[in-house]
Amino acid sequence: MEGARAAGVAAAVEVARQVLAGGGDALDAAEAAAVFLEEDPAFNAGTGACLNAEGEVEADASVMASDGRSGAVAALRGVRNPIRAARRVMERTDHVLLAGEGAARFAAEEGLPTADLVTAESRRRYREMCTALESGGAGEGLRHLARGRDLARRAAARARTGDLGGTIGAVVRDDRGLLAAATSTGGMWMKLPGRVGDSAVIGAGTYAAPWGAASATGHGEGILRLGLTRRCVDLMRELGAQEACRRAMDEATSGGVECGIIAVDGRGGTGDATNGWMPTARWTG
Ligand code: ASP
Repeated sequence: MEGARAAGVAAAVEVARQVLAGGGDALDAAEAAAVFLEEDPAFNAGTGACLNAEGEVEADASVMASDGRSGAVAALRGVRNPIRAARRVMERTDHVLLAGEGAARFAAEEGLPTADLVTAESRRRYREMCTALESGGAGEGLRHLARGRDLARRAAARARTGDLGGTIGAVVRDDRGLLAAATSTGGMWMKLPGRVGDSAVIGAGTYAAPWGAASATGHGEGILRLGLTRRCVDLMRELGAQEACRRAMDEATSGGVECGIIAVDGRGGTGDATNGWMPTARWTG
């Protein structure tokens, strides 16, 4: 997976660059990069995203521009590009976040394409995890509780392997000085249905202000508690993107949160930091 993901992020940067070259703004470029990565089954977003405890993809995605515009979807099923749905929430509603069935109905009304996001590979991994759950001795009546326990155990196992799970993020500053951040994920394997992570929450998984924009990946519950991207963007009032990422990551590490963050500052400086493994790519024009 590592080689495929590294190649994917490099190609996504080129997609974003072309959008900017064609006159698109930072938001268009961040969205295009995110769509490209959602279509790549190597990542935990869109097609090939991880499955919840019922074997379904429930996607979280959010987008924010430095002028304050923001939109998000949570626990969204069956929409091919959740990041497009997040942008539509931003542009076509009075809300910031739509969840579940309401979000899916809204996406359908907006004419966004549906898709079966479950791949043969994700189905195979799901079966493997079910077998693991069953051999963990969970009684029938305790299935949901057992899944909850298993989610925590698996998050810890991922922390040990350093694999942050393939959530995708993009941060862009365009030549007019607009900044944008976009994040999209299937969440975490075997999560309880209805669970919403940081990637749907402005200030946790995604944040943008005139002095910085950031996108996060990693253990969603920890990132939510830290308000990680908001913290990183606040640091960029005084610091460049790289130093802000480093400091935000130090705080996350001291708090025991396995995660990664990418950022761009108001002058176009870029940064990334992780306490796991996270491929990144960047382009500066
Ligand atoms: N942050 C995502 C979530 O908790 C998962 C990830 O980034 O791997 O939903």
